[in-house]
Amino acid sequence: MNEVLRRLGIEEVNPGAWAGSAIDGATGEVVSSTNPSTGEVLAKVSLAGTREYEVVVSRAQEAFERWRMLPAPKRGEIVRQMGQAMRAQKDDLGALVTMEVGKILSEGLGEVQESIDMADLAVGMSRQLFGLSMHSERAGHRMYEQWHPLGVVGCITAFNFPNAVWAWNAMVALIAGDAVIWKPSLKAPLTAIATHKMCDAVLAEHGFSGLLGLIIGGDADVGETMIADSRLPLISATGSTRMGKRVNQVVAGRLGRCLLELGGNNAIIVEPDADLDLAIRGVAFGAVGTAGQRCTTTRRLFVHSSIAKEFTDRLVAAYRQVPIGDPMKSDTLMGPLIDDDAVRMYTEGIEAIKAEGGEVLVGGDVLDRAGSFVTPTIVRGRPDMQIVQHEIFVPILYVFEYDSIEDAIRWQNDVPQGLSSAIFTDSFRKAERFLAHHGSDCGIANVNIGTSGAEIGGAFGGEKETGGGREAGSDSWKAYMRRQTCTLNWSTDLPLAQGVKFDI
Ligand code: NAD
Repeated sequence: MNEVLRRLGIEEVNPGAWAGSAIDGATGEVVSSTNPSTGEVLAKVSLAGTREYEVVVSRAQEAFERWRMLPAPKRGEIVRQMGQAMRAQKDDLGALVTMEVGKILSEGLGEVQESIDMADLAVGMSRQLFGLSMHSERAGHRMYEQWHPLGVVGCITAFNFPNAVWAWNAMVALIAGDAVIWKPSLKAPLTAIATHKMCDAVLAEHGFSGLLGLIIGGDADVGETMIADSRLPLISATGSTRMGKRVNQVVAGRLGRCLLELGGNNAIIVEPDADLDLAIRGVAFGAVGTAGQRCTTTRRLFVHSSIAKEFTDRLVAAYRQVPIGDPMKSDTLMGPLIDDDAVRMYTEGIEAIKAEGGEVLVGGDVLDRAGSFVTPTIVRGRPDMQIVQHEIFVPILYVFEYDSIEDAIRWQNDVPQGLSSAIFTDSFRKAERFLAHHGSDCGIANVNIGTSGAEIGGAFGGEKETGGGREAGSDSWKAYMRRQTCTLNWSTDLPLAQGVKFDI
């Protein structure tokens, strides 16, 4: 077995249910976690079922009752120690992310750094769970809002950020006073097990083992049970819009809360006055980084017609030079897709694009080697192509020409998704037009920065079919707490609001 896996406590066959310690029992089904660069099996996981799920929930509920009694800054101190634990094992955990999902090592390490940063941010938040106070209309009365823990939060994560998406949720939920049960993607279960063990070890030192639960099981049994479970007041789900629609429907059916982080269809607009060197780098990282498998990947590029030829030629030349290969090597810029299904999505996507009249300018190939490698692709298209409305989770970039910024902004917004967007321009007026209320309709709008690589300090998420959720910084912590409005009467009278009289 690989040394990294061994150091992270991964066995050849691992249990699928954890509440600190492993929960005995399994469905009998086993999934293999495969390195997408080589096709080699890294390790296996015995899938957990609904019986194990029950144990994980009851342990989390028990731990929650004690955890909520700790003052928030004390919870923050324990989260700080989790950040330290991830810092100490960052190299191994980052390497595991790379081995399991194929993103290049600097991105694997960057992902773990993001989780460490989330822990740091959450420590600060633990002293800033502010409520407002307001002036009562009644004399001798005081009104204010306070925030209480929610309970046991369900966290469903996508394959492409197998460590950080959980941390965006868990670090904040923990300082808020909640317990968290994590259902990771079956495509990246080992990163989840390693992360769980690392963070639970910190909780165990303080007597809170089991506050974080991990359940690796099928969508039809464990996933559906989790989203229907009214003991979980909040389900935070990251993944495809298809999944989000299902989760939203089931959770709404029990009047629970959802925090949805779903698919994107992100665009960059390049104006003629832009710094084109910056724009080329911004587009290339946005479209090719993580092999096009980020929710914020740049999928559509609108270039002003006066610079379209020059810009597209330069971009095509840059694409031809992208080093594709082993993501562990420092000079590789693009690793594999997650699996052969993704390769199929890529080839079918390109066929569908051609059928609608799209012209492949570069790429479009599956590499003849072990692993799930394809070439990054640029397609000349028209904004009215049906396929452009869909997120194909692979490195395919559409290029469109425009003449007026009004058209570019309208076309950019004319898709069902609303996650990330960007403009490259040196014009103050154009930048402000893009950021205005009738500009970009996305949750993220950048100027002279690409669509991907958001900082955790800001609230992260998108509109429309991206789901409307916000995670990470700013006041996103409010999603993990319940608000209580309190009115205290310190007078000797009992006046009623709105001047109502009710004297008996
Ligand atoms: P996916 O929708 O296939 O799976 C995501 C998660 O949902 C997995 O854990 C899966 O097991 C679970 N799931 C699926 N059906 C379920 C059900 N009925 N009940 C409970 N759980 C269920 O997505 P994926 O292929 O893993 O990830 C790629 C997608 O995620 C892309 O669309 C990408 O844009 C999106 N994504 C969004 C963000 C964001 O923050 N907006 C971040 C990362 C990824």
